[in-house]
Amino acid sequence: MARAPSRHPTTLGRPTVVGTQSFFDDARELVLRSTLDNRELAGAALGVREGEQLVLTALELEREGQPNRVSMDPDWGSVLWHTHPGPHFAAFSQQDVRAASHMGNPLLVLGYGGHSPDLLTYATGVFGTPAIVASLGVKGWLWLERSGQVPPALLKRGIAARVCFPTGAIEPVHRLHGTPLRRALDTASFQVDSNLGQAGRQLDRLWMRVRGKG
Ligand SMILES: [Zn+2]
Repeated sequence: MARAPSRHPTTLGRPTVVGTQSFFDDARELVLRSTLDNRELAGAALGVREGEQLVLTALELEREGQPNRVSMDPDWGSVLWHTHPGPHFAAFSQQDVRAASHMGNPLLVLGYGGHSPDLLTYATGVFGTPAIVASLGVKGWLWLERSGQVPPALLKRGIAARVCFPTGAIEPVHRLHGTPLRRALDTASFQVDSNLGQAGRQLDRLWMRVRGKG
């Protein structure tokens, strides 16, 4: 008999994190709402541990925060999540990485992935090399959409979920039963985001140092 999803799935070690269709449906709804209201949302994920996989099945909303922050409570569950409203990236800030390490459990960020056109337009205006990668990416996506290899809805929504482990390692949340193409696209999108996320974290660190001195 399958175990019921729990708010406290065992997360010891560094399992592969995958999400079911209902998990990604919840993520899409929450990121859309977060973007329309322009505030970060937070809560706990439901899931079960299956061997080396952590299978996430649903998201429960616990708190509505501000445009750039929301506080989280470890009592909610062992895998917590928060949103980054568009056009912010589904990438971790320096504060997020520290929160994951402090809580000792994986932390999820939900937002728009590197293949979201709004995101790419924004990124192109702001960044150097990753933006070139990103603009190549959007052409690739448009080609794939025209050739019918990906549903157009993916381009419109572009939802992505990322997980940060207490060690600081960051990985995409893959789709349970995802096709090899889907996995390849998720990985490519994740590469774009992690480059942008790294640039963002460098700025965060610099800013913290400047504030520390001032
Ligand atoms: Zn965050």
